[in-house]
Amino acid sequence: MINNKELQEFDPELYQSIKAERLRQENNIELIASENFVSNAVREAQASIMTNKYAEGYPGKRYYGGCVNVDVAENLARERLKKLFNANYVNVQPHSGSQANMAAIRALINHGDRILGMSLDAGGHLTHGYPLSFSGKDYQSFTYGVNTETGLIDYQEVRKIASEVKPQLIIAGASAYPRAIDFKKFREIADEVGAYLMVDMAHIAGFCCTNLHQNPVPYAHVVTSTTHKTLRGPRGGIILSNDVELGKKIDKVVFPETQGGPLEHIIAAKAVCFYEDLQPAYKEYMKQVKANAQAIANVFMENGVKVITNGTDNHLLLVDVKSSFGITGLKAQTTLEEINITLNKNSIPGDTERPAYCSGIRIGSPAMTTRGFKEEEFKQIGHYIIEALRNVDSVEIKEKIKASISQLLNRFPLNYELD
Ligand SMILES: *Cc1c(COP(=O)(O)O)cnc(C)c1O
Repeated sequence: MINNKELQEFDPELYQSIKAERLRQENNIELIASENFVSNAVREAQASIMTNKYAEGYPGKRYYGGCVNVDVAENLARERLKKLFNANYVNVQPHSGSQANMAAIRALINHGDRILGMSLDAGGHLTHGYPLSFSGKDYQSFTYGVNTETGLIDYQEVRKIASEVKPQLIIAGASAYPRAIDFKKFREIADEVGAYLMVDMAHIAGFCCTNLHQNPVPYAHVVTSTTHKTLRGPRGGIILSNDVELGKKIDKVVFPETQGGPLEHIIAAKAVCFYEDLQPAYKEYMKQVKANAQAIANVFMENGVKVITNGTDNHLLLVDVKSSFGITGLKAQTTLEEINITLNKNSIPGDTERPAYCSGIRIGSPAMTTRGFKEEEFKQIGHYIIEALRNVDSVEIKEKIKASISQLLNRFPLNYELD
């Protein structure tokens, strides 16, 4: 168990920030779709003495001595990850999802080449070609979006843009897309225009390794992910492929081209995470994540609240708060924060609000599902959100809901030692 005793005595100032953050996590309903609560086993591994070790290179081929034990940990992470996604090649060293994307893109194409990714306002990620990201600066980037009526990816439209742009790389995957993505179709389009296909499964990886969503590994040239979202591991990135030759190239871009020494304590925690994800209980968890997202989506729709695409296939949903409550996404986010519900504003298809305000919110179920919430609790959250957003100016109503939320959370304690 990690109890932070020494920290408390040695650096009380810093310790207080951790303690306050722990209380914040305990006392709020966490609906940010990219967050989760890791197990104590994952936390023990990442707090371990593996943090002390320099291990540039890969297991068996390191630039420093004394790597025998971190080699064991990294090999465990690699073998478990290969098994989890049925992949021939993996790299577990990327420090984050963005670092994984940088390495994968650099391994596939050259500086100045064209990439086609989902636009940020349609749900894509910064690293898929956004102008402020390396991906928009080092490459010529083009985007596809979603149909503004249906909120869905229009594959004919993607095909049309791809045939005009003739990109060297197409990126599929998103941070705010509530429906299944057809990776097979993306690969067909990539083949038609002679492009590589990279799938970034950061948000939905937990569904992809449990057969609850198409696994992209057989279809994409390269697949990237984070490990801290649905996979429920430490913060970090991973790269997978079935192409072992391409893998050799990726290994060289991760180290030495874009990273130095790997975070072996995080890699140890990734190994624990993959071990957990291979257990039957993890598939049950992911099924519950989806059932919970659908339960709250249904409460909204039954009460006349607009849910983009009229539901969800995964762990997240987008709610149009502008047309449903006459408020911006930012107002909804700050109002819900007052009653201890944490989530983020999000643009919706065809959004006319400026990005700082947005017309929608994004709601995710992974974190509270880990905490033990089932359909009943998610329906309850849906009712709380509707009541609060219909009464944004009523201090009395907000106080009442906040008290109910506190009672609800008391029934589901966070499974951590106090620290
Ligand atoms: C979260 C996310 C990332 C980036 O992950 P970081 O670890 O924050 O760098 C990349 N791609 C997608 C689709 C994501 O949702």
